[in-house]
Amino acid sequence: MTETDVVVIGGGATGVGVARDLAMRGVDVVLCERGGLGAGTTGRSHGLLHSGARYATADPEGAAECIRESRVLRDIAGEAVERTGGLFVQLPDDDPAAFDARIEACRDVGVPTETLSADAARETEPELASDVRRAFRVPDGVIYPSRLVAATAESARQHGADVRPNAPVTDIVVTEGTVTAVETDAERIEADHVVNAGGAWAGRIAELAGVEVPMAPTMGVMVAVDVGGVDSVVNRCRPPDDGDIVVPHVDRVVLGTTSTPVEDPEEFSTDEAAVEAMLSEGAAMVPAVADADVVDVYWGVRPLYAGDDGGRGRDASRGFQVHDHDVARLTTVTGGKLTTYRLMAEAVSDAVCERLGVTEPCRTADAELPAGDAEKLDALVEEFDAAGPADTDIVG
Ligand SMILES: Cc1cc2nc3c(=O)[nH]c(=O)nc-3n(C[C@H](O)[C@H](O)[C@H](O)COP(=O)(O)OP(=O)(O)OC[C@H]3O[C@@H](n4cnc5c(N)ncnc54)[C@H](O)[C@@H]3O)c2cc1C
Repeated sequence: MTETDVVVIGGGATGVGVARDLAMRGVDVVLCERGGLGAGTTGRSHGLLHSGARYATADPEGAAECIRESRVLRDIAGEAVERTGGLFVQLPDDDPAAFDARIEACRDVGVPTETLSADAARETEPELASDVRRAFRVPDGVIYPSRLVAATAESARQHGADVRPNAPVTDIVVTEGTVTAVETDAERIEADHVVNAGGAWAGRIAELAGVEVPMAPTMGVMVAVDVGGVDSVVNRCRPPDDGDIVVPHVDRVVLGTTSTPVEDPEEFSTDEAAVEAMLSEGAAMVPAVADADVVDVYWGVRPLYAGDDGGRGRDASRGFQVHDHDVARLTTVTGGKLTTYRLMAEAVSDAVCERLGVTEPCRTADAELPAGDAEKLDALVEEFDAAGPADTDIVG
């Protein structure tokens, strides 16, 4: 049996972020992940380090979080992120007024933009379609999720956390209305507090404590194609829709994505039509996609909350929520984005520290992750069993 201050259930970005944050405040933490770190949604994301421009019109608050957090990650996350920059492009079918409105909205939330003529945009990105009308530049980037998770977990470990991949939690022990321990397949861990960072599985984990957390997961497809020579993230400038983002890797681009409600985060039917749609939407922005080889297709499931005001599908909030429960000493976190994982972890850790009486402030935004050396980082990815489809071409 182990005793600790806090058990974190789930080793995606959010869970390792919480483990790091708490450990840096001097809290004793054990993190249990049922698979390799990042085995859930984190390792199956599109990997866009959002500047916030995508959300500026519909969700200014989310956009402001993105610009702040993307700046933090550019400063602290070393080789786990790529500072590529991004372009929003207007194609002939796209409403010019929406282009202008998005620039205005970016200005309002502090996302810097630079408008480019069609010629200037193609000079920057020669692979862009010849019918691009105009574009604007934003500070988007690329996240390599396996590296981000491994670096965050290593930082947590350096501050004393016990990070355990391949340690599924099988039960949460509740005694007289209070969580007192979790059971893994190997042992019982007694804790003063438990954090449910189970992403799309948060509802199932909460059930172990007899608590309801309604989730509304949506799945999305990513299609990697063999197109080199694209340096920036390319976004279609229209209201968020299927297939409007092209994320560049070194010698491929990753096209995505979709947002389809699913009942079960693991068992859902995939759809060849969605793959075809990614190829045709991607080719509208980057024509070389049309003749390129498909080198990978993978699917991920968003951990969206179906709370009172939660919509479904694309309308569901991409913000995050921190939940208290009827049983004491359990905190659940839902929703969010990879880009804002550190901020989510800070909010969860603030809530947990308040309950534990810990007064140390959050320091995660100012302390660099151990992510400066790609080779060492990829050794950590291997050690934490953190490799995922989002960046297999980059890592290791
Ligand atoms: C298609 C798609 C594209 C996306 N693209 C982007 C993007 O470009 N940019 C961006 O910022 N965000 C993006 N996101 C959102 C982002 O990927 C997620 O919000 C984020 O990765 C969620 O991390 P998490 O740690 O909360 O969940 P997860 O990574 O799912 O972690 C939860 C973990 O809990 C574990 N678990 C479950 N049950 C148990 C148990 N019983 N015991 C122990 N562990 C358990 C799971 O194995 C899993 O690893 C995308 C999401 C999707 C689906």
